[in-house]
Amino acid sequence: MNVFFDVQGTLISGGKPRPLAKEVFAGLIENGHHVYLWSTAGPSYARSAAKLLEVEDLVFGYYSKHDHIPVTVDFFVDDHADFADHHNGHHIHPFDGDTGDTELRKVLDTLT
Ligand SMILES: [Mg+2]
Repeated sequence: MNVFFDVQGTLISGGKPRPLAKEVFAGLIENGHHVYLWSTAGPSYARSAAKLLEVEDLVFGYYSKHDHIPVTVDFFVDDHADFADHHNGHHIHPFDGDTGDTELRKVLDTLT
């Protein structure tokens, strides 16, 4: 599946990277998924987030949420419940900078 992650509030908060991103992305890839980042702030912002998360080598592509997406969005993860609920998404608890945060592991559990 093509798994899309929102950036702000989902993977990054206040410039801090959410824990377990690398581990979870690697696990998704191991299970045959492709990981993408998309953001309303655009693809270059999404790419800079990947750098901060140290997952650049694991991400298949970066998009703006406003762009035409050239692949099927099979599953997406977002901290905004409204957006997630209306688009067959997975709502994730917003990241608040907690270094012990384990929310991302739920995504891996759901998809593997
Ligand atoms: Mg967000």
